[in-house]
Amino acid sequence: MTDYLFPPAPVPALPVAGEAALYPVRRIFCVGRNYVEHAKEMGQEVDREAPFYFTKSPSTLTLSGATVPYPPGTENFHHEMELVVALGAPAFRVAAAEADAAVYGYACGLDMTRRDLQLKERAKQRPWDTGKDVEHSAVMGAITKAADMAAIGPQRIHLSVNGETRQDAHLSDLVWSVPEIVAHLSTLYHLGPGDLIFTGTPAGVGPVVAGDAIEGGIDGLAPVRLTLGAAE
Ligand code: MN
Repeated sequence: MTDYLFPPAPVPALPVAGEAALYPVRRIFCVGRNYVEHAKEMGQEVDREAPFYFTKSPSTLTLSGATVPYPPGTENFHHEMELVVALGAPAFRVAAAEADAAVYGYACGLDMTRRDLQLKERAKQRPWDTGKDVEHSAVMGAITKAADMAAIGPQRIHLSVNGETRQDAHLSDLVWSVPEIVAHLSTLYHLGPGDLIFTGTPAGVGPVVAGDAIEGGIDGLAPVRLTLGAAE
């Protein structure tokens, strides 16, 4: 047995509907602008040539139902409701037509964002890490296996804060489809089991404050819930 100087961090993992075993998370990729109306509200356009990405540390994974503290260093902490793709097989330089074979399942996810820091970073052409790679910021519900979900398209994707709807769109509004994203990302990485891809958020992002209860849903998937606690 390997002798470590201190106990290694536990493996971040997600429940899967209908499975006793957990899905161990390896990496978390996130697509930037992928809904036209959200790109507009951010004062940007969707890049039609190729999707772009940022990442979150796997340690930011937080299970649905958690209460997490309002994070430090921000006065504008935003919700972003997203479809998350969970990969279950290797994919490297795959064509979009073959990409579905690498998809294990789907889940509801929240890409919680320190918007003030992200926008400052963006304006200075700096990396988005402090805006996006926030502790407890990759919040996810249970994974549903791909075979148990209808073809991606007509499903409603929505988010409410304290019961009031803030985001409401359909997965057919995705600019880059799931197979297109997997295919493109597989030109840059040896994708494989344990890799998650947050596919971007529809319009309606906005701030949350301590005490707020967030609930996000996508037809056919387990919901994702988060409660904001007080700042530490
Ligand atoms: Mn996002």
